[in-house]
Amino acid sequence: MHVTRALSENGYPLSLVRKQISRRGRPAKPKRVFGATVVLDYLPKLSEKLGRLLASFGIRATFRSRHKLGSLLSALKPQRSPAERTNCVYRVHCSRFSQPTAYVGKTVRSWGTRRRVHATSIESGNREASALAQHAIDYKCAFDLSNVSFLESDDNETKLLKKESIAILKSPNLVNRNSGVGICKAWTSCLSLISYRKRLS
Ligand SMILES: [Zn+2]
Repeated sequence: MHVTRALSENGYPLSLVRKQISRRGRPAKPKRVFGATVVLDYLPKLSEKLGRLLASFGIRATFRSRHKLGSLLSALKPQRSPAERTNCVYRVHCSRFSQPTAYVGKTVRSWGTRRRVHATSIESGNREASALAQHAIDYKCAFDLSNVSFLESDDNETKLLKKESIAILKSPNLVNRNSGVGICKAWTSCLSLISYRKRLS
């Protein structure tokens, strides 16, 4: 070997050179294998000690903080007014019939904007705009757009659509034409069963 020869020629004892080279080839120390993992709330000072103690028993401890930065910040956020609400599933009621009739919809833009669009489509007689407009125009009734309930919210639009679909399936007496999109059939039958049982009880 070139390295061995070069080193011994430079005065290093051959035995030492061989020893050093064989040491390099040795596998690294095996990583510690834990038999189990536990997730615990983080408590300053105590958690480090507990982690070491558990590790001596072959248990890996991971610690989570009870107060996530996001939850702390959202607690500080000022409450938004209904008109400012975005990315939500909402319900509004029509007051014409003795049996309450409602419309469930979703909006990514603010409720204030969606509300104006609803009002404009009714005023202009645009039946195609939504099931709400169609119902209001056909039956000459009024939806109480100032009395809105927010059922769900989600920043992910696909998830919001699914939440809307579920809300539509769960709510009785809706004017909605379709039951939204993206819900698998197993869910649909499951939810129909739930709402059927609710009606019976
Ligand atoms: Zn109505």
